[in-house]
Amino acid sequence: MSDGTQTELQRGEPRRDPKRRKPMVGLQPEGDVDWSSYRGVLVVVEQRAGVAKPVSWQLLGEGRRLADKLDAPLLALVMGHQVAHLAEEAICYGADRVYLCDSPELRDYRTRPYSRVCLHVIRTFKPEIVLMGATYTGRDLAGAIATHLPTGLTADSTMLDVDEDRLLLASRPAFSEKMLATILCKQFKPQMATARAGVFEALPRDPSRTGEIITVPPQIPPEDIATEVLEFIAATDRVNLAEAEVIVAGGRGLGGPAAFAMLKELADALGGVVGASRAAVDLGWIDHRHQVGQTGTTVRPKLYFAIGISGAVQHVVGMQNAECIIAINKDPAAPIFQIAHYGIVGDLFQIVPAITEAVRARKAAGGLRADGEGVGFSLTGAGSGGPVRGAE
Ligand SMILES: Cc1cc2nc3c(=O)[nH]c(=O)nc-3n(C[C@H](O)[C@H](O)[C@H](O)COP(=O)(O)OP(=O)(O)OC[C@H]3O[C@@H](n4cnc5c(N)ncnc54)[C@H](O)[C@@H]3O)c2cc1C
Repeated sequence: MSDGTQTELQRGEPRRDPKRRKPMVGLQPEGDVDWSSYRGVLVVVEQRAGVAKPVSWQLLGEGRRLADKLDAPLLALVMGHQVAHLAEEAICYGADRVYLCDSPELRDYRTRPYSRVCLHVIRTFKPEIVLMGATYTGRDLAGAIATHLPTGLTADSTMLDVDEDRLLLASRPAFSEKMLATILCKQFKPQMATARAGVFEALPRDPSRTGEIITVPPQIPPEDIATEVLEFIAATDRVNLAEAEVIVAGGRGLGGPAAFAMLKELADALGGVVGASRAAVDLGWIDHRHQVGQTGTTVRPKLYFAIGISGAVQHVVGMQNAECIIAINKDPAAPIFQIAHYGIVGDLFQIVPAITEAVRARKAAGGLRADGEGVGFSLTGAGSGGPVRGAE
């Protein structure tokens, strides 16, 4: 054992065989690579059990914008088992061409079989940009692919654009959210990014759109099937803010953890989930998984209640794309009213139970749409806390 190795072990670092250390070859393109044959924006569609994640359609919406700017096709990759319908859906949401790889081996997500298919499609069809959702799966898959190609990858982007040199400008919050970094991948293709769910807007589903579907053979060698998924157990306590259609969020104005039970009642009545501001999370009133905002989850529900939340910019960036925002706050000057579609000035402890009661009554009377329409109607009758007014 050499002195150097002893030092390494004394420091508690992993033992490495010096003969097995390899220089970082292969990370430079060999010679002058002609990247001009790389064309098109590819969105990897994420699905589970044949149901697509909304972020996939959101990325097709954004991908369409980028592809149009580049005068290039918008491509989609659908992988899974019995997922042909998702290839059709991808066209409805903006794709010009869909690569479809359907195989029993792709029923459950596993890194190696999925990355094998992705690598094959990328190497064969050469897209210049590849986008995936910054979900657990998307982040795993994107990292595995980027290191194999190899190319550059920006994780968890919140803004995407392209410049006149066809370079992808992928922006993401960095350094504990203190700055926004715009990251470029100048020397390699494809330029890859994962993007945060809820930030980008899906195009309206258009069944009249047409596109091409190209079937890709799975070609997954047996040695790539190293893991077997025995069972999928859905987490029962999962807080799925990113996909929720209705979010009832509370902040410091709740005064303590107990009031979140009141919010949960309203959320249950509307079939939604409970969200929170960072102030409520920092005070330990509710788990961080519920946090909405810059350092929490970015959401795009149909209906968002901001209850006892002042509307600080770091909260607002995470929820301003909600289709309908209802703010309840006792301070008429609270900034949240500037972005709310409906605002109620008053004490949340009076107003929230009144709304819950009204929602339950309306549901019992026959149906309630989760888009604020029915709720808005109920609100005008619930105004125990003060005037009901629309946002500016
Ligand atoms: C780097 C950084 C990242 C951040 N990330 C996030 C983030 O991801 N998400 C986030 O939310 N914040 C984030 N913040 C914190 C953010 O700046 C605010 O401090 C936070 O959003 C405030 O939370 P709040 O609105 O619940 O509390 P407050 O600002 O204290 O507002 C409480 C509101 O409740 C109202 N109120 C009080 N009592 C009642 C009552 N009885 N009835 C009705 N209304 C009542 C008050 O009028 C007030 O408007 C971040 C900050 C920094 C610096």
